[in-house]
Amino acid sequence: MAVAAPGQLNLDEFPSWGSRGVDCFEKLEQIGEGTYGQVYMAKETETNEIVALKKIRMDNEREGFPITAIREIKILKKLHHQNVIQLKEIVTSPGPDRDEQGKPIDGNKYKGSIYMVFEYMDHDLTGLADRPGMRFTVPQIKCYMKQLLTGLHYCHVNQVLHRDIKGSNLLIDNEGNLKLADFGLARSFSSDHNGNLTNRVITLWYRPPELLLGSTRYGPAVDMWSVGCIFAELLNGKPILPGKNEPEQLTKIFELCGTPDELIWPGVTKMPWYNNFKPPRVLKRKVKDAFKHFDRHALDLLERMLTLDPSQRIPAKEALDAEYFWTDPLPCDPKRHVLVTVFIILPSNFLSNNFLS
Ligand code: AMP
Repeated sequence: MAVAAPGQLNLDEFPSWGSRGVDCFEKLEQIGEGTYGQVYMAKETETNEIVALKKIRMDNEREGFPITAIREIKILKKLHHQNVIQLKEIVTSPGPDRDEQGKPIDGNKYKGSIYMVFEYMDHDLTGLADRPGMRFTVPQIKCYMKQLLTGLHYCHVNQVLHRDIKGSNLLIDNEGNLKLADFGLARSFSSDHNGNLTNRVITLWYRPPELLLGSTRYGPAVDMWSVGCIFAELLNGKPILPGKNEPEQLTKIFELCGTPDELIWPGVTKMPWYNNFKPPRVLKRKVKDAFKHFDRHALDLLERMLTLDPSQRIPAKEALDAEYFWTDPLPCDPKRHVLVTVFIILPSNFLSNNFLS
């Protein structure tokens, strides 16, 4: 992992950040393992507020602070939106973390630790969807999709690409609010899309064809492909493009979306890896066939999200205006789906008989 030059994390930019110690929090339990280290549920000792503490692991870094963590902090510091996870502050611990015998743990012998403090979220979308017997209702799916698109539109307007949209990075609280999280791969972009960006981003199943074909000049459309995959997954009950490796991922995409040519995707044949992955035969697009059980408006929107040519893929703002969100059954109020989603796990036929349409 790349490291920052000394002084690159300028905490002066964030007055009061880093001034408090982690001892202002009582760690309650470990709730996850992040890109840089453990994530804990913790309680602010004065206010009793429950937060998530994300530890930034320093033991792999020969010097300095992980540059990806700096990026995540800088990006989250400028984003303030109800559908984007809130980074509340940074806290530090002066010495190494120790076990019960007082021995330094994590191989972190000499350095102190740094923690990001986030608002606490109760679930993630993948965890909720994977519960046995769980089927989301159409109003719930519309509600989650609307929040996802609203948060993403906000990021894109602020020239931030998330670059790792997937169910486990969409956190949901017990009130049904959805927030984009894990900005460890995010970066700022300029609107001309001419930057030379890292190609290997986005978890394979949610990675768009332009990245699989080697593009390093890309924009917000990469996140919209991932949104399309999540949308279809919510309606379908399982991931739609579960490739085992990059060539297989591209094959699965072509089998569903057809093989691209210069007519439907001008410039595709000039993509860096087009010749390596060129499909051996022409395949027809069959999104409508594969998902004919989806309602018409859902299918129309999905078609526009899973468009091969990124320049023709629907942007988040336009997706929010799609008929799908404005026709019955309308998206439910976040608070309402808590009733079904979180507390009651009903047999799936109960839901389909009573709610699904
Ligand atoms: P991340 O590195 O952000 O993907 O975090 C790893 C895991 O920690 C996630 O998959 C969640 O299970 C958990 N986690 C991260 N942030 C939070 C949060 N704000 N509230 C609750 N759990 C979280």
